[in-house]
Amino acid sequence: MIKDVRIAVLGGGVAGLHAAYLLAKAGVTPLLIEKEDSLGGLCSDHDRTTYRIERYYHHIFPTDTSLLELLDEMGLADDVMWRSGKTGFYFEGTFYDLNTPLDLLRFGPLNLIERIRLGVQTLRMRGELDWEHLDGVDAEHWLIATYGESIYRKMFRPLLLTKFGLSMDKASAAFVGGRLQARVGARGPGMVKERLGYIHGGFHRLIEAWKRGIEERGGHIATGADVRSLERSDTGFSIRVNIDGTEEVIRSDAVLNTLPIPLLLQLLSNPPSETRARLSRISYRAVLCLTIGLKRRLMPYYWLNILDEGLPFGGIIEHTNLVPENDYTGEHIVYIFRYLDTSDPWWTMDEARIRHEVLTGLERIFPDLSEEDVIWSALARDEYATPQFLTEYGDHMPRPRTDIEGLFMAGSFQVYPFSRNINNTIQASATAVDDVKAYLRWDGAGQG
Ligand SMILES: Cc1cc2nc3c(=O)[nH]c(=O)nc-3n(C[C@H](O)[C@H](O)[C@H](O)COP(=O)(O)OP(=O)(O)OC[C@H]3O[C@@H](n4cnc5c(N)ncnc54)[C@H](O)[C@@H]3O)c2cc1C
Repeated sequence: MIKDVRIAVLGGGVAGLHAAYLLAKAGVTPLLIEKEDSLGGLCSDHDRTTYRIERYYHHIFPTDTSLLELLDEMGLADDVMWRSGKTGFYFEGTFYDLNTPLDLLRFGPLNLIERIRLGVQTLRMRGELDWEHLDGVDAEHWLIATYGESIYRKMFRPLLLTKFGLSMDKASAAFVGGRLQARVGARGPGMVKERLGYIHGGFHRLIEAWKRGIEERGGHIATGADVRSLERSDTGFSIRVNIDGTEEVIRSDAVLNTLPIPLLLQLLSNPPSETRARLSRISYRAVLCLTIGLKRRLMPYYWLNILDEGLPFGGIIEHTNLVPENDYTGEHIVYIFRYLDTSDPWWTMDEARIRHEVLTGLERIFPDLSEEDVIWSALARDEYATPQFLTEYGDHMPRPRTDIEGLFMAGSFQVYPFSRNINNTIQASATAVDDVKAYLRWDGAGQG
């Protein structure tokens, strides 16, 4: 592995790949260092030999303009398929559609006044929201003030519980407002259809295009390379990396970190106390996601929200209700997910037990589902699935340029208050790369 570089990018997820790609395009040869043997991070997949499927459900919104432009640049834009996926809610043993204004008028969990209020207030999310003010307000108070106590209890509380757990009353109203705005924005002007996109064949095609784009321009990628420490000296950074049990030290003028913040804090030997204090305020939520391949279709929905706090998962996504099952040798792909804290007993449960609990919960909702319908299953778990966007996150959100000279940051932890999706994450990478280039005084003509 190359031992002396101008810029090292830590982490080969979406943020790191895009940053390294932009740096390589600008002629600043990067070294990308990724712990796992494969690239992609949260966007990586299960390889089923005959097809590949993301470890976590992924789709594109029509408003994801940066991602769509990138796909165009990479020659993948024509391979994005656009579909309408039906959304449903499971409440007190009954399924409810919630896709059109008419569905809203019939939406059983709420009374007529509540249905109208839900519709009117959600439509208002299309307008400008006062993000600065909302950053300091907790989601619970804001949602109750916007929608009323009853709508909050029946709809938003269970949804927030799956996302924020016990910190629900501390969740940022700005983040929840950003999510609502994104969902409204994905619908046509009549609020009739939510169009969602998916790259034919899977997101691994984007990951491979990034990899090619970096390597063809002379950039380096080290996989299976676990960064163990990061030290700043007068001559730049020393990055200690473990590869196959062997320690190597890489010297770099600058470093762009895309690792989750708690991991970065473990790597830094002596960060300024103010930096440590600010970054320590960022906590994460973990995720468990069981993917199952079924012999038959499970439900008519792409996305089913579970408004039942007694069930062990927050949502069910039938991927093959967005992308035809023919792309998966006729198998029906279903994701069942649960966001959680690592103190939750589910976090340390073994895969067989999780599978059993999930299938038992699924059979409660779909009594005619049986073990024989399941062709395969695979569990994904990630400790750092999402930063917890709590009140005043905007205040201490990591900026691209840190207090440590030459250390930059990019990642989904900078995507706030809007959805921490791929589109917004690659925008964060682009901003950080501009700062890196300015720091290295890179003039774009191959001179630093
Ligand atoms: C359940 C779920 C569903 C999602 N659905 C969507 C969706 O529908 N649409 C959408 O656009 N986005 C979606 N996202 C979000 C999207 O996946 C993320 O925004 C994006 O993948 C974040 O990329 P990242 O590079 O910031 O982080 P990560 O993917 O976490 O990348 C960090 C990388 O650092 C590596 N690393 C960690 N420690 C070390 C170390 N010591 N040394 C070297 N490398 C290390 C990790 O292995 C990882 O590859 C979803 C995310 C989840 C969890």
